[in-house]
Amino acid sequence: MLIVKKFGGSSVANKERIFNVANRIADEYKKGNQVVVVLSAMGDTTDELLEKAYEINPDAPKREMDMLLACGEQTSVALMAMALSSMGIPAISLNAFQVAMHTSSKYSNARFKRIDTERINNELEARKVVIVTGFQGINKYDDLTTLGRGGSDTTAVALAAALRADACEIYTDVEGVYTADPRVVPKAHKIKEISYDEMLELATLGAKVLHNRSVELAKKYGVDLIVRSSLNNAEGTTVKEVASVESMLVSGVAVDKDAARIAIIGLKNEPGIAFKVFDLLAKHNINVDVILQSIGRDDTKDISFTVDQTQAKEAVALLKENKERLTIQKIEEDETVAKLSIVGAGMQSNAGVAAKMFEALYGVGVNIRMIATSEIRITVLIDIENVEVAMKAVHAAFLED
Ligand code: ASP
Ligand code: MG
Repeated sequence: MLIVKKFGGSSVANKERIFNVANRIADEYKKGNQVVVVLSAMGDTTDELLEKAYEINPDAPKREMDMLLACGEQTSVALMAMALSSMGIPAISLNAFQVAMHTSSKYSNARFKRIDTERINNELEARKVVIVTGFQGINKYDDLTTLGRGGSDTTAVALAAALRADACEIYTDVEGVYTADPRVVPKAHKIKEISYDEMLELATLGAKVLHNRSVELAKKYGVDLIVRSSLNNAEGTTVKEVASVESMLVSGVAVDKDAARIAIIGLKNEPGIAFKVFDLLAKHNINVDVILQSIGRDDTKDISFTVDQTQAKEAVALLKENKERLTIQKIEEDETVAKLSIVGAGMQSNAGVAAKMFEALYGVGVNIRMIATSEIRITVLIDIENVEVAMKAVHAAFLED
């Protein structure tokens, strides 16, 4: 069997953890399996590198930033190869350049295009454990790129697909994917199996276990993912096409506290206004989520929408610059909001899910400010101070008995 195992930064944060991981890898290797390991940077290394860059140049060129950040993963893989060697296990570390993991050119947010498998396969045939840097790639200029924060998960899935691996295991510091954040909802429990689509929604909505691109790739190439703990042997969560347990009505509750609500008021009630507003934002790569448009009264209408807090200032500035053209009379911005979502494949075929969610919120006196739905999720925008009660109430309504 060929197995890809990815270990996150906290799983390799220090000497003891590195040897803990090395032992797990050695066990797999001794069973006669071929093992490819993907590692993240140790502990908070990536954050520390970002800080260092900021001290030198707050506006550092993105190419140099990727050159710097790629160092974190390179440290981990070399140390892991050394740890395995000290245990008598033949191992070799490889960076993105050595493997030839080709990505798009976009620094800090690159996407995989093609991965050469020759070098890795040769090393595997020589019975070595192959340890590959997560998070990085090379572009057509032979420059290092990075995949965005948390991108090592995506490296693991891309490698598993390219190598046609028999399994792809993502080891982390939690035991799997939970029905809600267990620090907020004590009754949250581990999900045994979840579909790609549900996981994608949860990953996008702030359940930070998996990089969302990794789930997209896993779905595209049909790679089954297992998310489990690097610290114990508990059974994890399997992410696959169709979860075999009967489709849960709701699989999980997710919260995104990094949302900001922007309201633009007094727009002309005529065709093309919404297009112009959202086209402007899209051209500046500002992602818009929940959108609400009021019914036109008089000759005007209002539109509210949410963006990520990190993009809120830019969005407001853009709208101000274009106030006249977009016929905006007033702009409001509010960062005291959070998005609360329920996700579940079973919603598609069940009536009354939204009503049940709203009833749960009503039961604890939480006001809903905006609503958005897709086939498998319902999102409400609420005041940030209500997040914990709301989460517990909604979890209790759907996921506790
Ligand atoms: N080291 C990178 C980060 O901290 C990538 C990863 O951990 O997946 O975002
Ligand atoms: Mg991660």
